[in-house]
Amino acid sequence: MALREPDCLFCKIVAGEVPAEIVREGERTVAFRDINPQAPTHVLIIPKDHYRDAAAAGRAGRGVLDEIAVAAEEVAKAEGVAANGFRLVFNTGPGAGQTVFHVHGHLLGGRGLEWPPG
Ligand code: AMP
Ligand code: ZN
Repeated sequence: MALREPDCLFCKIVAGEVPAEIVREGERTVAFRDINPQAPTHVLIIPKDHYRDAAAAGRAGRGVLDEIAVAAEEVAKAEGVAANGFRLVFNTGPGAGQTVFHVHGHLLGGRGLEWPPG
């Protein structure tokens, strides 16, 4: 059983209680399409265990962030955006736009990814 937080939307997606378009499921991660895509490829990669943000996941010391990074590259390859390059973003805290407090990497690709973002 995954570490779970009551009322967490992404924990519910992990449990299959809220539908999502899952593109990859590993032993400890799930990747699904963002409901409000900001790029042709916009996939969220999450650990099955609940951590509120990337720092909390890192502190847990269980390799969760490593697995998210590897899963992101695999999804990017499957989506055909790896060669051109993709962005992996962890919004951390409300001031940075984090709205779901279950750590998730945004994988963005398939369009020009200007930096800094517009
Ligand atoms: P953040 O603002 O970084 O916390 O990102 C949360 C992301 O979750 C946003 O890009 C939303 O569009 C996305 N999102 C919210 N609800 C769902 C859902 N049910 N299925 C897929 N993506 C979702
Ligand atoms: Zn959660």
